[in-house]
Amino acid sequence: MRYSKLTHLFAVLLLLAVFLQLVQAKKHKEEDDEDDDDDDIEENDKHTAPANGIPPGEEIKTPREAVWLKNVDLSKVPNLPRRKVGSGRCANANCDGPDNDRCFETCGNKPDDDDYYGCPDRLNWALTFDDGPSLFTKELLDTLDQMNVKATFCVMGAHVKLFPEFLKRAADSGHQIASHTYSHPHLMSLSNEDIIYEMRATDEEIFKVTGIRPKFMRPPFGEADQRVKGLLKSMGYKILMWNVDPKDYEVYENPNAAEQLQQVIDAAIQKHETVTNPHDDPGFISLQHDLYDVSVKQVPIFVKKLRDLGYNLTTAAQCVKESEPHYNQHFLPDPLLAQHRNEEKARLEKEAAAKAAEKNVVPVAPAPKVSQASSSYATSTYLLATFVAMPFVALLL
Ligand SMILES: [Zn+2]
Repeated sequence: MRYSKLTHLFAVLLLLAVFLQLVQAKKHKEEDDEDDDDDDIEENDKHTAPANGIPPGEEIKTPREAVWLKNVDLSKVPNLPRRKVGSGRCANANCDGPDNDRCFETCGNKPDDDDYYGCPDRLNWALTFDDGPSLFTKELLDTLDQMNVKATFCVMGAHVKLFPEFLKRAADSGHQIASHTYSHPHLMSLSNEDIIYEMRATDEEIFKVTGIRPKFMRPPFGEADQRVKGLLKSMGYKILMWNVDPKDYEVYENPNAAEQLQQVIDAAIQKHETVTNPHDDPGFISLQHDLYDVSVKQVPIFVKKLRDLGYNLTTAAQCVKESEPHYNQHFLPDPLLAQHRNEEKARLEKEAAAKAAEKNVVPVAPAPKVSQASSSYATSTYLLATFVAMPFVALLL
């Protein structure tokens, strides 16, 4: 009788143990499911990331190497103050006269005679693409190759760093490479020094990938006053603007963006109507962005339309009759470049050595991590074991 009671007790305790095990297993499963949900959220985030492959809203840090400031002649750069973003907007501006300079954001800066806006010959058209490279640049390069068109890419240094292979392919295919700064700032708001860093950091990235550096540059937002242009020209750049703007950047707000793109091109072709054409050029330089899928997809239609009308599609340099679109040398003279490269190499070696030394330090083995769930599981198991052992201990006594 005593034994049967004990057996009964043992069976109850055994059932209790099984029940506790089941509860713990369910809890672990719920935790795992929660982890899976987290993975799903991350996966969804990936899907909402921009298809052009460029991280949205991320602040770009422009590299600054002191040696880049050498060899820039500032003696002919006008000593004008920096201009804050937003300080050049005017209501009722008279953009054909004295308001041009003061109202630079409303009217656009005063054009210089040697700034390129359009092609001097009729039936010449230069397609230009800004802000790339991006993931869409590959499709654009495929289209241009298939249609045997040479275009101009005004690239950002930071994006060259993300997609060097597309820049290399563009340069190797005979397209013109122009600079569009490293981080796309409002140049008039920057000091001379910071403008030099923007340009040289971009040159450096392009040169590393292609062995060439651009002779043409397009100021972000088309903004450049006499100080900025003076500085850029003293650094050896030609200023490349445009005279046809299909506003492809309105693609997110405008559901008919593709239609608008075609209409702007048609207006230029049929009525010679363009928003800006200060030199009254009879040929056109159009502005697009290879950041936008919609814009890239319109290119085959543009090309066919223009060719049917007898247009010759060229690079910007070809249309303005600049025989050399690029420089084939680094912006630093050889001895200075050699010294800079040596210093760079020594710095990288030092960094690598410091990292290796860090790795060689034997880390103290961390205490095994016990999660709250498994710790409470262990406690309940110990309690159960004590309950199960108690009757046997009582028997022995
Ligand atoms: Zn731009």
